[in-house]
Amino acid sequence: MWLKNLNIWDGESDELIAANAIKIDHNEIAAITDSSVQVEEDEQVHDLQGLYCIPGLIDAHVHMCLNPVLKDPLEQDKPNDAVIISEMTERAEQMLAAGITTARDLGGGNWLELELRDQINCGEVIGTRLICSGQPITSVGGHCYFWGGEATDATDALGVIKRQISHGVDLIKVMATGGTITKGSTPSNAQFDADVLKTIVDEATANDFHVAAHCHGTAGIKNATVAGVKTIEHCSWVNEDGWGRGYDAEVVEQMRAKDIVVSPTINAGWKRYIGSKQFESLVKGNYTKMREAGIKLIASTDAGIPNVFHHDLPKAIPVFAHFAGLSNAGALRAATSDCAEAIGLAAVVGKVAVGLEADLVFYKENPLNDLEVLARPVKVMSRGRLIDVAD
Ligand SMILES: [Zn+2]
Repeated sequence: MWLKNLNIWDGESDELIAANAIKIDHNEIAAITDSSVQVEEDEQVHDLQGLYCIPGLIDAHVHMCLNPVLKDPLEQDKPNDAVIISEMTERAEQMLAAGITTARDLGGGNWLELELRDQINCGEVIGTRLICSGQPITSVGGHCYFWGGEATDATDALGVIKRQISHGVDLIKVMATGGTITKGSTPSNAQFDADVLKTIVDEATANDFHVAAHCHGTAGIKNATVAGVKTIEHCSWVNEDGWGRGYDAEVVEQMRAKDIVVSPTINAGWKRYIGSKQFESLVKGNYTKMREAGIKLIASTDAGIPNVFHHDLPKAIPVFAHFAGLSNAGALRAATSDCAEAIGLAAVVGKVAVGLEADLVFYKENPLNDLEVLARPVKVMSRGRLIDVAD
């Protein structure tokens, strides 16, 4: 199949590239060239009449099993598994229609999102490509303990990892600090010391898995950095003086030296904080300092937490660009090629490049000029299958 007369952004450049035609062979990008190319008579050709084409968007932090309408996490498990799976399936379809062709699921309790992942991979369900962590490792009664990944020490943590591997996870998630949605857990407090986290990272690495660490407080960010996790989620720099007040340049330098990537989980609702003194100086200030220190920031929303819908990443990216101080091209890289690299999928998705999966999104206007365009895709291609999503 040929897609012709496109404007192509490849996932890396600052501008559109010169080529304007893409050949799709089954699920892969087979060639990127000029629309004047001669095609075989029996080949299907789509004239896309100047649409703008970019790599499919990637959300580095979602929870497929969470219903964003429910405020209390303990209410989440009440429906039976069949109902939860059907809700998750609908979410995966909505995400794909929004142009989110890949997402990293960072936690659930019953591995149902892994079932969905497998149904999508075998084509039974047409939805967002998923990689999943299963149950996050957490302290006893700690952040999201209700998902079943509690561990008192390193030995327990190894047991939790073993259980996740037996269920077929793609990576390991650890709650290095407390969080906001769990009663009795405190975001500023570290839940494990650096030694326990190091044991977790070593065991994960030995099994070829990345570790994503949930970190709000500075102490936990430091422990996760020393342990050498792959991504730090949230990275809120909370200390005893408050949210965003514990920035530590030395820790950031260690993060940079270890190529640790930060996933700030900025959702579309943060739009209301634009102009707020505290958010501009502390939140934007911290992310800007990290970025200027050489830390890669990737797009993520924590979809599934209250009021953060799974298909909202396209609306979150302009807000993320604001708080991370990124150019339009920089924000788009953070949601495509940089994100793919950080979550271990650089050889699969994230760019318009020969040999990668044909996961693409199409718009009438150029998102490099205006990130708000991302909320209005007209077509999505997932694994070589072209889907119309709007007129
Ligand atoms: Zn989360």
